[in-house]
Amino acid sequence: MSKNKNAALCPCQWQENVLFAECCGRYISGAALAPTAEALMRSRYSAFVQEQAAYLLQTWHPSTRPEHLDFEPTQWLGLTVLSAHDSDDDHAEVSFVARYKINGRAYKLQEHSRFVRENGAWLYVDGDVA
Ligand SMILES: [Zn+2]
Repeated sequence: MSKNKNAALCPCQWQENVLFAECCGRYISGAALAPTAEALMRSRYSAFVQEQAAYLLQTWHPSTRPEHLDFEPTQWLGLTVLSAHDSDDDHAEVSFVARYKINGRAYKLQEHSRFVRENGAWLYVDGDVA
């Protein structure tokens, strides 16, 4: 991990050349709440890249949250959001593909995730892997 990650490009690749500090960094640091489920999902991808377990657990709904997170040595290659859909004001679904490598072998995770907003904060509930 770079020491100067706030000056680095955001891993979520939301926009070309967007800086981490101006994108997911604001949510992971706690400076702001993710305004949409998609923004939360992107920030959770970036948190996986940076192994920010506390943020991942904090943004996980208590009903499905694991006790703790272990990170495998993973080379994250990129995120593509396929669709984002609000079911109502406080429920949303996001489909995405995340690509990564473990021990040099490439993997693709495609997931349809559900999110709920509680007390103004979007939380990851669960997802179906495609
Ligand atoms: Zn980002």
